[in-house]
Amino acid sequence: MSTAAIRDLSVFGEAIAYFNEAASLLDLRPGVRAILTHPSRQITVSIPFQRDNGEIEVYTGYRVQYNFTRGPAKGGIRYHPGVTLDEVTALAFWMTWKCSVVDLPFGGGKGGVTCDPGKLSIGELERITRRYAAELVEVIGPDKDVPAPDVGTTPQIMAWFMDTYSMHVRQNVPGVVTGKPLEIGGSRGRVEATGRGVSFVTLDELGRLKIKPSQARVVVQGFGNVGSITAKFIAEAGCKVVGISDVTGAYLNERGIDIPSAIAYCQEHHSLDGYRGGQRIDAGVLLETPCDVLVPAALENVFTSDNARRVQAKLIVEGANGPTTPDADAIFRERGIDVIPDIVANAGGVIVSYFEWVQDRQGFFWRENDVNERLREQLLDNFSLVRELAQMRGVSYRTAAYVLAIQRVVTTLNIRGMYA
Ligand code: NAD
Repeated sequence: MSTAAIRDLSVFGEAIAYFNEAASLLDLRPGVRAILTHPSRQITVSIPFQRDNGEIEVYTGYRVQYNFTRGPAKGGIRYHPGVTLDEVTALAFWMTWKCSVVDLPFGGGKGGVTCDPGKLSIGELERITRRYAAELVEVIGPDKDVPAPDVGTTPQIMAWFMDTYSMHVRQNVPGVVTGKPLEIGGSRGRVEATGRGVSFVTLDELGRLKIKPSQARVVVQGFGNVGSITAKFIAEAGCKVVGISDVTGAYLNERGIDIPSAIAYCQEHHSLDGYRGGQRIDAGVLLETPCDVLVPAALENVFTSDNARRVQAKLIVEGANGPTTPDADAIFRERGIDVIPDIVANAGGVIVSYFEWVQDRQGFFWRENDVNERLREQLLDNFSLVRELAQMRGVSYRTAAYVLAIQRVVTTLNIRGMYA
């Protein structure tokens, strides 16, 4: 898929289509609807930084704090050449509903710098990160806005961010960002949290569909953090992962792919390119392979009106953010394919980010088992509520998830009252 195609479809206007559908089922006052469809704050900063050769260049960075009703803004920082204010706004908007649907005391935020981290040295990345953090120092903080890693950013980048903020405020503030290395206040279980959460909701839903893990055929698109860890946990639960892919190619093995060996291959070669544990097939064909569960875990706008009719899965679990366009979603509904939406399916990462923020504030760090058990409870309890709402109202999981998330924000807004 071309970057241009992704860009055309990824605008904020597209993101609010799902909100509008759910909001139409709620009796929202027009003023409340207007508040929830406007970002609270959009910040654009210039980031001058010195290249290794001594030249000064200026990049552009953004931070959108979409909503603060339920608590400080929360959301990742993306380093990617395609970052725009529009995209960051849409991502901050999604974070608002994701935090609410799994009942976290956060609003929604997102940030980004338009850059290609693959073409920057470690020193250049550090200088960009420190200047970006310094530009935002007044508007971020554990009680204001708590960033985290996203596409193109790493625990090391979070460490530089936390260090820069701490230098400016003259005290150690680990809770200003999450997704940090363990040594400086990160949480055990954070790296695996999103994939672990995807596997929890998948196995839970397979139970409802009365499909035993040993009978389930699974296809996973994307083999990075979310895809590979989801595949690992799902295979450990007894499911047969018959197809995997990454940006370099797709692989099918009817007997089941040996996921630990695929992960080891990927770590050694930095991609699946050349992997021999399955037959190499066309990436588009992989998405149309008959299976019980299809997990898109790569990028946005994977399912469109072009391919949605050819998908042969019983259940789609959105590991990635925004993999299904509203047109494709309508086709899946018409065809009776259940979709567990991104704001629920991949919320494991932000749930453990919340646990990290709590641990940093307590100065008391939990055992990994405690993190994983609390993650299971927080995610599955809220997924149960989404499921009940979907059944009660006769709507899709996605619409039910948005209804629950919007209701929670509106309830808080009504209790707090409006400063207007
Ligand atoms: P990542 O960079 O670790 O992995 C992305 C994977 O997708 C890579 O294997 C890449 O090769 C693959 N990919 C890229 N283009 C592809 C294509 N055209 N076909 C097949 N594979 C392709 O990123 P990640 O952290 O795993 O994130 C993946 C998605 O999950 C993103 O949408 C991200 O926003 C979302 N997400 C991530 C987290 C998290 O905690 N990492 C949390 C919530 C949501």
